[in-house]
Amino acid sequence: MAKIYLDPGHGGTDPGAAANGLQEKVLTLKIALKTRDILNRDYEGHSIRMSRTTDKTVSLTARTNDANSWGADYFVSIHINAGGGTGYEDYIYNGSVSNNTITYRDKLHAEVMKQVDFRNRGKKRANFHVLRQSSMPAVLTENGFIDTTADANKLKSDAYLDRIALGHANGIAQALGLKRKSGGGDGKQGYVEVITPSLWTYNTANWDDRAVIVNQGEVFTVARDKFKVGNGYMYQLKSGLYITASTQYVRYYTK
Ligand SMILES: [Zn+2]
Repeated sequence: MAKIYLDPGHGGTDPGAAANGLQEKVLTLKIALKTRDILNRDYEGHSIRMSRTTDKTVSLTARTNDANSWGADYFVSIHINAGGGTGYEDYIYNGSVSNNTITYRDKLHAEVMKQVDFRNRGKKRANFHVLRQSSMPAVLTENGFIDTTADANKLKSDAYLDRIALGHANGIAQALGLKRKSGGGDGKQGYVEVITPSLWTYNTANWDDRAVIVNQGEVFTVARDKFKVGNGYMYQLKSGLYITASTQYVRYYTK
């Protein structure tokens, strides 16, 4: 059972960076909770612990002590940058690190960059407490600049936070070799056929994150059985896209 420690930066009396009507502590918590939910929705064979799940003050020492005593396999700290740049970057400790630290970071970096259109600021190293004091592979991500208007506008979109979280979840899952949950129950492969003239698909499990239109008669392989999204249900398709599970629009079958 792989143990994942998610650390939403700041919280409580420490808001982190703030600008453009946004607070770092709020964004990091949203991204971390979404990452947790995606990991639990799409993957199996892991457990997740978080340094906080609400807006509360947690010291840096309390975070690393908690992860160390729990025996986490991977520590991922989520932050938003500030200081007038733009884009995404991530950090590992600038002292000696394990080979796993490097490969885990490479996978996380690649998967986040697949999902977002932030400028890629690269893979970096720094002497941050959470990287130095954690006894397992640890990565700290900086997801856009809160004080740069273009980045802040992206961070104001819930669908964009979903994409950042999806990148984190997929990167963590790859690093730890988590198994993707299979669709179709009963061990049978599930399919959906479009039964309405045209229908939207979605980039993420978010009704606002429309991808491409598909047409009546098209059939898609289901990767993940239907699950609740807002007031409705979706399937995840093998292509990675999502589609409604409403029987008004699609017919589901197995073979
Ligand atoms: Zn921060």
